[in-house]
Amino acid sequence: MKVLVINAGSSSLKYQLYNMTDESVLAKGLVERIGMDSSILTHKPAGREDVTEVSEILEHTTAIRKVIDILTDKENGVLSSVDEIQAVGHRVVHGGEAFKESALVDSASKAEIRRLFDLAPLHNPAAMMGIRAAESNMPGVPQVMVFDTAFHQTMPEKAYLYAIPRVLYKKYKVRRYGAHGTSHDYVSKAAAEYLDRPLEDMKIITCHVGNGGSVTAVQGGVSVDTSMGMTPLEGLMMGTRSGDLDPAIVPYVMNKEELSVSEVNSMLNKHSGLLAISGISSDMREITEGMEAGDANSTLAFEMYEYRLRKYIGSYAAAMNGVDVIVFTAGVGENSVVLRQKVCEQLTYLGVELDEALNAIRSGEPRRITTANSKVDVLVVPTNEELVIARDTHRIVLNSL
Ligand code: ADP
Repeated sequence: MKVLVINAGSSSLKYQLYNMTDESVLAKGLVERIGMDSSILTHKPAGREDVTEVSEILEHTTAIRKVIDILTDKENGVLSSVDEIQAVGHRVVHGGEAFKESALVDSASKAEIRRLFDLAPLHNPAAMMGIRAAESNMPGVPQVMVFDTAFHQTMPEKAYLYAIPRVLYKKYKVRRYGAHGTSHDYVSKAAAEYLDRPLEDMKIITCHVGNGGSVTAVQGGVSVDTSMGMTPLEGLMMGTRSGDLDPAIVPYVMNKEELSVSEVNSMLNKHSGLLAISGISSDMREITEGMEAGDANSTLAFEMYEYRLRKYIGSYAAAMNGVDVIVFTAGVGENSVVLRQKVCEQLTYLGVELDEALNAIRSGEPRRITTANSKVDVLVVPTNEELVIARDTHRIVLNSL
């Protein structure tokens, strides 16, 4: 079965075409600047040169049509006809409490996604545009929604409730949902497989640190706690997001600076984190360069980022009464040798013993970075959220036939 994976944002659309017989990627790409005058389609057919096209793409339906055109193009395509696409999988950020796992797209599931617009106002409407656009371009092809939140639906009440009046949960479903679920799920399973140990018996802490970041406590293969909350703002310090802060700061600053709700939201989501502390960048590569060049603000930004991540690891070891494996993944987790080193150097109380030579190796494969004597295995596992979406789509569509 050939599965097209779509990750639609408000002005962008990423795609990957999988052949599920061997889980190979036939092509992938990205449409950027949807709705602006010169949209850019970058198409990467496997083993061939990238292709870039600039044209006017005003909405998602046209974007998907362009993607289908290039996938079936005589010169740059990988399909002889659109009919070869047998299923479409969509990334959907928020599945609320309704979706504990991936689901077929039908009128009931679409209605539920619309009800959840409130909880993810930036992301879910974009996913819905992607779903509608795929439906109109590929009528009759089964589609599946795969949620960032679903993996965390196993969290117990004590982990997902906020200590605020319960009426807010009853009326508005104010609670913690988490995010990056497909990644935490994928890397925890990949870690158990790599170590050849049964997932059911393991306590794993997965650290997905990229532009956004979250840490998850995975016990017996299920999420028992995670650092993101009702929205992706809670938890770790991130590229441009503040992460945890005293909630009383919000009304205080709004009052002092006469900020509106959207201004304070923008401050905490777009102008905080590494960017705010370094004053230079939200990008960990530039922060690291600044630190190496002796820039005090970059050094402080790095130290805060590392310290907060390490505190979450400690708290999840406490939550599970121990930890067998710690996994680093995503842009920063997979690439920043110095971040992993600084975190591991201060986890010796858990029995972590870093092997600096192993930590310095770069490879696209799962690997251990601790010594043979280390009580806790620390791994780097490259994440693959698209593959999880393709696998779920494949499984759910086969089961529905
Ligand atoms: P997203 O959350 O957008 O998917 P990614 O997982 O791609 O983000 O992570 C992007 C982050 O990874 C950026 O902060 C980038 O600086 C960081 N990153 C990428 N390569 C390196 C590297 N070699 N060293 C440190 N950080 C890196």
